[in-house]
Amino acid sequence: MTRNSARRLTPLCAGALSVTALLAVVPGSAVSVGRPEAAEPVAAQAAKGGPRPDARHVVIAVHGGAGTALKREDTTPAQEKAYRDGLAEALRAGRQVLAEGGSSVAAVEAAVRRLEDNPLFNAGKGAVFNADAGHELDASIMRGSDLAAGAVAGVRNVRNPVSAARLVMEKTKHVMLAGEGADDFAARSGLPTVTQDHYWTEKRWQELMRAKGRQKGPREILTQGTVGAVAVDRGRNLAAATSTGGLTNKMAGRVGDSPVVGAGTYAKNGTVAASATGAGEVFLRGAAAVTISHLIEFGGRDLAGAAYEVLVERLPELGGTGGVIALNAAGVFDAPHSSEGMLHGYLTEDGRVVTKIFADETPANQ
Ligand code: ASP
Repeated sequence: MTRNSARRLTPLCAGALSVTALLAVVPGSAVSVGRPEAAEPVAAQAAKGGPRPDARHVVIAVHGGAGTALKREDTTPAQEKAYRDGLAEALRAGRQVLAEGGSSVAAVEAAVRRLEDNPLFNAGKGAVFNADAGHELDASIMRGSDLAAGAVAGVRNVRNPVSAARLVMEKTKHVMLAGEGADDFAARSGLPTVTQDHYWTEKRWQELMRAKGRQKGPREILTQGTVGAVAVDRGRNLAAATSTGGLTNKMAGRVGDSPVVGAGTYAKNGTVAASATGAGEVFLRGAAAVTISHLIEFGGRDLAGAAYEVLVERLPELGGTGGVIALNAAGVFDAPHSSEGMLHGYLTEDGRVVTKIFADETPANQ
């Protein structure tokens, strides 16, 4: 049993610790108000047949990466606000698309673009550095109605890789373009291009320096800040998208799970829209996102049970941790993770925005 699954199985007054930030969805308002959320002990969940979903009536959800969770004691109120606002703005961008009758594909693209433009997250601006002190970005998008998908891997000059992934899906016969060809395609298609310094942030540079300094010691893979979104539109069509700079100090040319359909991203109307974050090699080997779908489709599992089994029971055995946001066409949402935490948020049909950024806000990985 991993440390985290042990944590999950320990009720330890989770309700007393769990605090969910509720943001009133008033245009222009970003005031977060903490509210204790009653968490049901896992024993009670088990008696009802397994993990219960985090929320219902969700129309769009986003994540801002697994990995080391933000710690209350090291996080200033200004930093907390910045992260919650970043997630909430992405949710609102997606909601606006849906409210105007847009598709779930357009909604997840809009949400992920916001997160790519936010330097706090490891996607677009703020992407991590590879071992050559460069940035290589990966993204994918998938449409649940017909399993159409698009992806780019190792792009170096696209401002919003998720938009390039959508164009691959909609304008080419292919599913994935990589490297120079992908950059050229995005530029020729009229997407804004940037030079590598666009992605630069001091924080990510310092992370690279720390990773290099540690190279002689035990191998450590840093992962934090990948972004993703899942949504359901008025036609009850699902979509999912994921975008990342990958892992700090990764080898040049390394591609993780995020642009790979079935690993980091998957959407199928009858089962689930899923966007994953975590140790990409393990998510690739474990075919993470599609396995959740298969457990639902072929294993008769419900969304929460399937997502929990993959994230908390199967993937850690392959040697890596992470999390997923998972949504079905009925609006059932869950966000299990085996990593210490996972920044994420969701927005419900009635306009309620919930963001979770501290580990103690998801203590039992419900
Ligand atoms: N899964 C991403 C990758 O391996 C990293 C992350 O989610 O933090 O590229």
